Amino acid sequence: MPEDYYEILGVPRNATQEEIKRAFRRLAKQYHPDVYKGDKKEAERKFRKIAEAYEVLSDPVKRAQYDRFGHVGPEQSVDFGPEGFRRTREAFEEFFGPSAFEEIFNLFFGEGRRTRTVSRARRGEDLEYRVRITLEDAAFGTTVRATVPRYEVCSRCGGSGLTPGTGLRACPTCRGTGRIEYRQFSMFGTFVNVRTCPECEGVGEIPEAPCAACRGTGRVRERSEITLEIPAGVEDGARLILRGQGNAGVAGGPPGDLHVIVEIQPHPIFARQGQDLWVEVPVHYGTLVLGGRIKIPTLTGEEEVEIAPGTEPDEVLVLRGRGLPGPHGPGDLKVRLKVVIPKRLGREERRLLQAFTEKLPLPDPPRRPHI
Ligand SMILES: [Zn+2]
Ligand SMILES: [Zn+2]
Repeated sequence: MPEDYYEILGVPRNATQEEIKRAFRRLAKQYHPDVYKGDKKEAERKFRKIAEAYEVLSDPVKRAQYDRFGHVGPEQSVDFGPEGFRRTREAFEEFFGPSAFEEIFNLFFGEGRRTRTVSRARRGEDLEYRVRITLEDAAFGTTVRATVPRYEVCSRCGGSGLTPGTGLRACPTCRGTGRIEYRQFSMFGTFVNVRTCPECEGVGEIPEAPCAACRGTGRVRERSEITLEIPAGVEDGARLILRGQGNAGVAGGPPGDLHVIVEIQPHPIFARQGQDLWVEVPVHYGTLVLGGRIKIPTLTGEEEVEIAPGTEPDEVLVLRGRGLPGPHGPGDLKVRLKVVIPKRLGREERRLLQAFTEKLPLPDPPRRPHI
């Protein structure tokens, strides 16, 4: 049976967030390893409980769950590591100064418990590159040659950032510890606070002689020629991620990724709807009435299609499989027929159309339905 979190912090069950925070600070201070006079193991056990109780009670969701069930669900269990106690860490560092929480962790658990090792190397940034292609290229896939401004590994130092033949030396600012300690005096006593060294960024070492070509960063800015393979059937706005094609890392760190965002240019005749294409094709009234063959543009050329006699002008013809490729086979080409009304007629055409129209029975006017 775990001890009650409210009892651990010494607050009532209806305590406000501010009261919980105050109680946490008071207890954290009491069991701070620089202050606690008793057994270090005891201090560690207490501190761990206080941190766990605060982590749960400072989160309204976890607190509500704890109030209801007496524990926190397994998917929200308290991860006991420096990264797990985010809010606790924030509340702690607000009070004791930055990186103080991690420092306490190291005092309790030693360097072996640290979740990350500080190194000069940093991962390169991800980059975004926009590429505009035609609808035809989107349909069948294409290869695009692109010039991408990005950091490449420095060829002089091979990415180390060091002048060839030289190494690293201890950082003079922090004397190789990566941290700068300072004492803070307050009415509660003296605290040793620890900050990450700004000169070496916590690494503890700096280059003896930084590489002149990259100023010690291990990477240089270049315009890189790269080849982008755009797959067939790509959607407008699609994001293709090319692993390791972003900026080179700092001081030999891994490279970032290149995100290629595909923009498809509007097409002069086709409109896209998912994998289907729409096209509007002009047709004469007579062709609809009598039937006939018309030419339909497709992505690859032209196709002749038979129109049945008596086709309505708003009918949509479907050419199966003439759309864009996709995972479940290609889409369709949908054809909207647009009746052409001639604006100028010659004398002969006018006479024929007049004779034809006079031969036809008058269309029925709209009628109200019989009730
Ligand atoms: Zn270099
Ligand atoms: Zn330093």
